[in-house]
Amino acid sequence: MNWINNVVRPKIRSLLTTRREPPDDFWKKCPGCGQMSDRRTLEEAQLVFACCGHHDRMTAEQRLKHFFDGGSYTRLPSPHVPVDPLKFRDGRRYTDRLKDSKAATGLEDAVLLADGKLGGQSVTAAAQDFRFMGGSLGMAAGEAIITGMMHAVAKNQPFILFAASGGARMQEGILSLMQMPRTTIAVQKLREARLPYIVVLTDPTTGGVTASYAMLGDIQIAEPGALICFAGPRVIQQTIREQLPEGFQRAEYLFEHGMIDMVMHRHKLTETLARIVGILMAGRAKIAATAKGTDPLKHVNGHVNGASVDAKLLGTSARDAETVHAEPVADEDRFVTQSKKGRTDPVAKPPVKGAPNTP
Ligand SMILES: [Zn+2]
Repeated sequence: MNWINNVVRPKIRSLLTTRREPPDDFWKKCPGCGQMSDRRTLEEAQLVFACCGHHDRMTAEQRLKHFFDGGSYTRLPSPHVPVDPLKFRDGRRYTDRLKDSKAATGLEDAVLLADGKLGGQSVTAAAQDFRFMGGSLGMAAGEAIITGMMHAVAKNQPFILFAASGGARMQEGILSLMQMPRTTIAVQKLREARLPYIVVLTDPTTGGVTASYAMLGDIQIAEPGALICFAGPRVIQQTIREQLPEGFQRAEYLFEHGMIDMVMHRHKLTETLARIVGILMAGRAKIAATAKGTDPLKHVNGHVNGASVDAKLLGTSARDAETVHAEPVADEDRFVTQSKKGRTDPVAKPPVKGAPNTP
């Protein structure tokens, strides 16, 4: 009977008594109030804590999964850019940091581009991943944003950006800063094509990204509690040596001060985006029809700031609301300087005799 005592009993006892310990990453502490939530519930709630409504940071993939219809989307290829042209090294090689971030995130760089349906409407979206070197804007990220916007223009569909960034990528120096004007020009291309560009500012959106494309949306939406700023609160506080107001540079504060259009709970975000895209694309179709001579606005009565407006007037203002066009430049020489194309530079005129300041 020894085997019953030695083998079977312990087994039965172990089955009955062993409590299975939850895995180490089973719980997540709420950064807002400190309560614990289990990760599965949290994931189902789109990383919004039930305790106090704190919106946790999402990865680019989680973001797009919750955004597109049925969670399905087509990933667009990341554009190729030179890697580490400055051969930068601080504590570690920049190339090593890149390798680590790629392995940890499964992304090529900080921006994930995708095509898919939003409420049945075709859209292009880009999501920045804060895990990839702080979502920093380097050449690869800049090029991805531009590629995404050009893709939206080519396919005649809206572009939606989920911004999350610590700013420019210092390992790429001036080449990183160059992405600010480059992406701004790409936004202008969307505008010329009359395509909606909607920005969702998530926690945190800071630095060079807020100084360029992330603040140029037709509609600026922010998630609750998101830090949105150029220079962070700590830097400002140390510089001016004054106590900053409560909630300074948070989404709600910026909304109250007219910096953004709305603060939207994550659970209502997708539906809101779908509605905005629907309205803007329908308005765009109306304006296009107006340009062709048929005037669908003729029979529609409009409202501006709550007051009813004569449809005729609305139609006229829609027609007159032309974008200021930049000088048309072909896509392939978007970034070639004027002087290279053999044109005279208006700034470099020879000095006029007798004019002040000429020797
Ligand atoms: Zn909480």
